Amino acid sequence: MRIVLLGPPGSGKGTVANILIETYNIPHITTGDLLREEVAKGTEIGKFAKPYMDRGELVPDEVVTRMVEGRLSRSDCEKGFILDGYPRNPAQAKSLDEILRQLNMSLDCILNIVVPDDELIRRLTTRRICSNCGAIYNTLTKPPKKEEVCDLCGGKVIQRDDDKEEVIRNRLEVYKKQAKPIIELYRKRGLVRNLKGDVGLQALPAEVKKMMEGSK
Ligand code: ADP
Repeated sequence: MRIVLLGPPGSGKGTVANILIETYNIPHITTGDLLREEVAKGTEIGKFAKPYMDRGELVPDEVVTRMVEGRLSRSDCEKGFILDGYPRNPAQAKSLDEILRQLNMSLDCILNIVVPDDELIRRLTTRRICSNCGAIYNTLTKPPKKEEVCDLCGGKVIQRDDDKEEVIRNRLEVYKKQAKPIIELYRKRGLVRNLKGDVGLQALPAEVKKMMEGSK
């Protein structure tokens, strides 16, 4: 099963990816992680990509595409893959077509996680972090035992600036603008499956299964 996974920040992409990994036993390929690995290893790609990543900009298409091509050519992708973070624009979608054509492969589906904005904002604005040790909390689902005090180190638990509502609304807008042409392109090919991402953790695996049925 060859899947491109799409979803806004807070949509639970990681959770859905884990369900897919378990169901199909295929690798989860995340361009953000691949790039961070290149940076950590100090490779040419890593050295080139780091300044773009530090500025929060996209790394130029050719470099990311070359990296994705290398990864998809590895033998563990023969039985399928979950591609996450790529393509991010129509040029990358075109490059992906080319890569897959050369590998004699085609996509089975684009799994597009859909969650209402209100729910995304609720999920992301309730996130808290310890200013001392970085432990993650959530005011609704995982509050610290004592308000604003870290269970682990006693540090002050705060809200990060980029978890504030205005910043989150902006991140969601940026995502939508980016994702729209890609979804449109794949929709025309009949590949897009919208997954309801707000059904609750218990019901999510069944929802994923339902969406994937008939993809291949
Ligand atoms: P974010 O959600 O902040 O974009 P990611 O982990 O997906 O985090 O990516 C981290 C960084 O890696 C991005 O900010 C960008 O610089 C780079 N990156 C990831 N995927 C791509 C891509 N498909 N094209 C260009 N740059 C990318």
